[in-house]
Amino acid sequence: MARSSGPFSSPPGSVFPDPSVLEGVTAPAFAHLPDPATLFARRAERFARLAQGHPLGAYLSFLSQIARAQHVAAERAPAPEPPDAEAVERARTHEMPPLDRSHFTADAAFESLFDRLLSQARAIEKPEPAEAALARVQAASDAERGEMIRNVLADSIPVETLAEHLYVAAALQVHFARLAARLDAARLVPVGDGVCPACGGPPVASVVVDWPAAHGARYCACALCSTWWNFVRVRCTACGSTGGIAYQEVEGGNGAIKAETCDACHSYAKVLYLSKDPDLDPVADDVASLGLDLKQKEGPYRRSTFNPFLLGY
Ligand SMILES: [Zn+2]
Ligand SMILES: [Zn+2]
Repeated sequence: MARSSGPFSSPPGSVFPDPSVLEGVTAPAFAHLPDPATLFARRAERFARLAQGHPLGAYLSFLSQIARAQHVAAERAPAPEPPDAEAVERARTHEMPPLDRSHFTADAAFESLFDRLLSQARAIEKPEPAEAALARVQAASDAERGEMIRNVLADSIPVETLAEHLYVAAALQVHFARLAARLDAARLVPVGDGVCPACGGPPVASVVVDWPAAHGARYCACALCSTWWNFVRVRCTACGSTGGIAYQEVEGGNGAIKAETCDACHSYAKVLYLSKDPDLDPVADDVASLGLDLKQKEGPYRRSTFNPFLLGY
């Protein structure tokens, strides 16, 4: 297995990279909010491209159409109630995420979005188990739907009902991306390692960007609301350790996706490098790089990130 060390050398115990590598670089913005008008359409295109000649091609094509359904739902469903301004400020004062998942209730806007997404999903060509799962979600009682919503928001999906939860997660991603888009990125503050500053969730992966204003900066991408937040490189996104970090990739890979492993908490998370491929999408490329997760099954590291579309994780 290929191993490489990161380009930044961090002194042990320090969260800061060598200052010399930052010379002439303006500080990157802490957070970037999602744009629901383009997020899911681009993801649909990415899934479709990744599907070509891929061993998981059929599944990636299905997810491309799910992302397309998310795009349509985001365009047509009524806008959600914006987060309460006072509660947002209160959360900031207490270094808490402004979108409170633990008190989420499925309001009329969400129900409308969910129904639109499900009706879009009905038209998708899919294998029989996915069809049956969709039928079960559509027939679910309010209580059953509520339980599935809570599971997704707790990042804890029962293995036996992954197929049902996929649709619920798709709807929640749209809803929370639309809520996050209404926040003020400049008012977001760090709320903890591995925690989205907008909704409090874990990342799906992290991305090293090559943007002119933030060249070489890394961002964690939220699995739920798609907010990106700045996070120092060569530091575990789960526990914050800067020691015992190493990188692995699949043999023959182009270096665009690596697993960052941490010996402190024995976890790994994927890092995507936009300089190697500008079309990388955290959610789509995470699913398509399942081979990297399968490699990790042989080793001591467990996945710390969350992706409701990555079956079996
Ligand atoms: Zn989030
Ligand atoms: Zn760690």
